[in-house]
Amino acid sequence: MAGRDYSVVEKHLAELAAEGEARLQAGTSALDVVEFTVAEMESCGMYVAGKGSAPNTAGYVELDASIMDGASREAGAVAAIVGVVNPISVARGVLRATPHVMLAGQGALAFAKLEGFELVEDPDNYYVLPVGIYEHEIHEQKHGTVGAVALDTHGGLAAATSTGGTLGKLEGRIGDSPLIGPGTWADDDVAISFTGTGEHIIRSGGAISIAHKVAAGATVATAIDEVLAEIERLGGDAGVIVATADGRIEMAYNSDGMKRAAVSSSSPVYATTFD
Ligand code: ASP
Repeated sequence: MAGRDYSVVEKHLAELAAEGEARLQAGTSALDVVEFTVAEMESCGMYVAGKGSAPNTAGYVELDASIMDGASREAGAVAAIVGVVNPISVARGVLRATPHVMLAGQGALAFAKLEGFELVEDPDNYYVLPVGIYEHEIHEQKHGTVGAVALDTHGGLAAATSTGGTLGKLEGRIGDSPLIGPGTWADDDVAISFTGTGEHIIRSGGAISIAHKVAAGATVATAIDEVLAEIERLGGDAGVIVATADGRIEMAYNSDGMKRAAVSSSSPVYATTFD
């Protein structure tokens, strides 16, 4: 909500963006940087992802995440996974170590255990609602997601997305965030991560709709506007971050605000929540 103080979150986002930029400048791949950035946001409890997630209606936390490498089109995802600290790293593991794109539920957890990913030891005391960060907003914080997009010094693009989903979601509900296409997309031209009401994002096509419009000649800004308008027409709200192969960053939303940060080799770190 406009007027509230988001300076703690904005400072954290600015620091993460600066760290990501330093890693990119050192030659780290976009894929590694988006995984690192999203994992940090999952672990800190300040966002509706990982540690900051709320339980489903059955009383436990199920998480969704996905990651995609633009050049290779390799992708990995986990849906409705329970009990891991960093769903985005398990998604990266699916990309790296399996012939599949997505693992869900018990199978995703079994894979995470097999591969040695960090587990939540004490779920009853691990998860935090981000009270204090959002102050009085907690009853209005109906959904949230973290995402990162990056272009590396080798010209590679990557995108990653992770979420606790929507407040009061049914057990087994899966949103757009783990879906390669709606929630996350990367190719040779764009890397895209969505946030917002997942059902509407899925029904609009989401990220891949933007990519297709750009491939057909639309500007990124126009493509974003058209897809956000379609989400709004369907009754949803959403926000999106996009990095392009020519080094541009586009961020837009039709919700009240979107906590976000950006940085590039030619522009300093910028973090904000509203326009
Ligand atoms: N897109 C997420 C979901 O529907 C929630 C959000 O981004 O706010 O699960």
